[in-house]
Amino acid sequence: MEGYIMQVQPFSVNDGDGIRSTIFMAGCPMRCEWCSNPEGLTAAPKIGWYERKCIGCGACAEACPQGIGIDLNAPSNKSGHSDEGIGRTSYAFERDRCIACGKCVDACPVEARARMVTLVDAGGVLEQIQKHRLFYSYSGGGVTFSGGEATSQPEFLDHLSREIYDMGYSMDIETCGMFDWDKVKHILARMDLIFMDLKLFDSDKHCEYTGVSNEKVLENIANLSVFGRPAADINKIVDSEGRAGNDGKGPEVVIRIPVIGGVNDDDENIKASAEYVHSHLSKARIELLPYHRYGQIKYEALGMPYEHPEFSIPSKEKMEHLKDIVRSQGVEIADFR
Ligand code: SF4
Ligand code: SF4
Repeated sequence: MEGYIMQVQPFSVNDGDGIRSTIFMAGCPMRCEWCSNPEGLTAAPKIGWYERKCIGCGACAEACPQGIGIDLNAPSNKSGHSDEGIGRTSYAFERDRCIACGKCVDACPVEARARMVTLVDAGGVLEQIQKHRLFYSYSGGGVTFSGGEATSQPEFLDHLSREIYDMGYSMDIETCGMFDWDKVKHILARMDLIFMDLKLFDSDKHCEYTGVSNEKVLENIANLSVFGRPAADINKIVDSEGRAGNDGKGPEVVIRIPVIGGVNDDDENIKASAEYVHSHLSKARIELLPYHRYGQIKYEALGMPYEHPEFSIPSKEKMEHLKDIVRSQGVEIADFR
């Protein structure tokens, strides 16, 4: 079984309890304007070029089967101008011809080229996961599926989560909530914790900023209520071998709201979101995550425009104020940061 991943990141401490390995799976049905993982928007191999690191040595050009080369008329970052015989990789304007074979990545002496999405075998992913098993057991950690959107490769996710469940590791998932419940519910039942996003309560605004309406997300938040019931009810949705996370009780739920200044940081949005969560999931918590711009360098590496510098980072005072609104609706705050 093969699938597309961005990376397996060991020693993650913000994606659930303890020390975890996070599997970033590629492909996503949303197009959030603040996305910090743009390489994960589609499930297809991608190579990045970090211009700031590039020394213009030309090793990538020599290795490239597509003949993507060096532009001798452009100044290199480190060595000045082309009259020194060193130019700049022409990848920035020839990337359309790239077949993502990765030969330039292996050839580059300074890691200025990188595999940002690769097609991998499930066995290789599981091997990487197992290397850190002692950290999981000593810290109460495990494995977290993230993305992109992990449910956008349902067969690969099903396979990996079944294998990892049988290895006995804790599993969490981070999801944007845009999935077909009937195709994914048995996978979710294996998790110990589900982080599901609710980016905007107003459907028109949700559509404006993410490219899709939030109806499916709201429906799936309501669907998660099955996990707050006695274990006997969960047994109706576990897989054919009866796998259920959280010691058979089914997963806990944390609804995550990424707080983007100027987009969804108004009191009305947070209040309406918390009200909805409280009325459908009495035991769920909400985590508010302040917007950040860490993904900007990835846009540069992929040659994608970074279009929204106007989104602002909410202040600590603002975040505390919004947390108070959540609590005022009877919902507990979660904090994994
Ligand atoms: S990944 Fe693209 S640029 Fe790099 S060697 Fe292969 S075809 Fe050439
Ligand atoms: S091999 Fe690396 S450092 Fe050398 S030109 Fe290519 S990208 Fe730049």
